[in-house]
Amino acid sequence: MLEFAGISASPGIAIGRVFLFLEDKLAIPRYAIAPSQVDAEQGRFAAALARAAAELRALAAAGNPVVEAHLLMFEDPELASAVRRGVAERNHNAEWVVAEVVEELSARLGAAGTTYLQERTLDFHDVGQRLIGQLLEHRRASLADAPEGSVIVTRTLMPSDTLTLDRHRVVGIAADAGSRTSHTAILARSLGIPAVLGLSDISRHARAGEEICIDGNRGVVVVGPDADTRARYTQRKAAWEEATARLAGLNDLPAETLDGKLVSLEANIEVPDEVDAVLAHGADGVGLFRSEFLFLQPGRFPSEDEQERAYTAVLRAMGERPVTIRTLDLGGDKIAPGFALAAEANPILGWRAIRYCLARPEVFRVQLRALLRASVHGTLRLMFPLISGPTELERIREILAGVKADLTREGVPFRADVPVGIMVEVPSAALTSDLLASRVDFFSIGTNDLIQYTLAVDRGNERVAYLYDPFHPAVLRLVRMTILNAHARGIPVGMCGEMAGDPLATVVLLGLGLDSFSMGPLGIPPIKRIVRSVGAMEAESLVRTLLALPSGGEIAAAVRRWTGTRLEPSAD
Ligand code: PEP
Ligand code: MG
Repeated sequence: MLEFAGISASPGIAIGRVFLFLEDKLAIPRYAIAPSQVDAEQGRFAAALARAAAELRALAAAGNPVVEAHLLMFEDPELASAVRRGVAERNHNAEWVVAEVVEELSARLGAAGTTYLQERTLDFHDVGQRLIGQLLEHRRASLADAPEGSVIVTRTLMPSDTLTLDRHRVVGIAADAGSRTSHTAILARSLGIPAVLGLSDISRHARAGEEICIDGNRGVVVVGPDADTRARYTQRKAAWEEATARLAGLNDLPAETLDGKLVSLEANIEVPDEVDAVLAHGADGVGLFRSEFLFLQPGRFPSEDEQERAYTAVLRAMGERPVTIRTLDLGGDKIAPGFALAAEANPILGWRAIRYCLARPEVFRVQLRALLRASVHGTLRLMFPLISGPTELERIREILAGVKADLTREGVPFRADVPVGIMVEVPSAALTSDLLASRVDFFSIGTNDLIQYTLAVDRGNERVAYLYDPFHPAVLRLVRMTILNAHARGIPVGMCGEMAGDPLATVVLLGLGLDSFSMGPLGIPPIKRIVRSVGAMEAESLVRTLLALPSGGEIAAAVRRWTGTRLEPSAD
């Protein structure tokens, strides 16, 4: 049994079987084998050897001389017997022994000094990889192959990988890389799949098909649990499910503080069919529809009609409730397959989001046309990402006016009064929020990027994740400034970054005067419970004391003390 600690990225408890999802270069697991397991391990090696040889024979039948040379190596008893001896004597798994034997044999050949023999070492490595691949039952995996009850174990997931992820078969995600605000985390939360990320090297230790427990609440993963651990996780899973079911009782109640302040709790979605989960969790609207997920099929961007259908589906399902659709936010850490946007030294600071759209008006216009055409089917709000100041807004307004004029000329119906808002996620936007507020209808604070840019901490880099702090005084000041400037000009402010769904932040955001909170649909009930348990006035006075504290750590600790005396603990 191996236990790993990582970053809790999506809540919930899962017990399932490892589905290894690795790139082609194999991570070789290393684990000890008890003397009683040696026979089974020898059997596993023999079976892998037979499968690898059969695979090579099939390839050799096509007359490939390299493959024929490899086949000879398989039939050479030296390699196989060295591995068999190794498994019996070295007390380690066969994959690890194969890797060691290949290294030893190659070192011997390499020392022979002739170029020919040195080149043979490459063949040994190749053969070793093929054997290890068979032992791990590895092939180029697709998430679509994950069987029922799978826990995906991976180094990292690309947004495009998740297109094939079936949330009914995948019960958990454990990844070496990633942080709470990486896209893997956001997607896991929005699909309601428990996830632990930033686990460093779990993909090297887990074996395909092995039992695995995930605690997304605590950020812990156990591979190969013993009976006691499995029983503990089974119990925790039941308690979590019961607590979640209890919270569902709040669905029809308003998000209203004890002293009568109403806020709006909305949902973030990535794909239209998440709208069922949005409605099931009592959301007041969609606060962020990340439209870029429509752009992830390989090879081409979606047509105007395809986009219009996707937007209309969400708008229709939500009816009167507002749906905030954000225009394309590709680039940076959001890469579409087949669309190499540009090779950039600093993509996070580069050609992404609105910068890309303004440079590619032909792509932008198609999306705006689709959005406006869909607007007649519900309550649309248009939102633009990564605005850094008023100048970009002028250009957006120009393009939007052109698109509206075209639609009018063509006699295509649309709602001319669709509200236009921006994400405040670049520090310069927060710092110019007085200027921006008089030019738009609403703000939505994107803390994922705002924290990244304010603190100069890559949101997806687990090595610096310890510096990524939503409670840092600099972040709270920018949030406060944005809200004050917006309210002074009569526009509402929402938040759609992950901070909006962080239960520890709720009282702080209420105290800062936030009007709406948007988060993964599953996050809504626990946040509603907190909103309904505190007063807006007491939250404001708490915030006044917090703003005088010098560090995020002290602020978070003060909030914990304060909430600890008021809120019953949530079951996790
Ligand atoms: C944000 O930056 O907070 C945000 C909501 O946008 P994304 O996570 O898609 O960059
Ligand atoms: Mg962002």
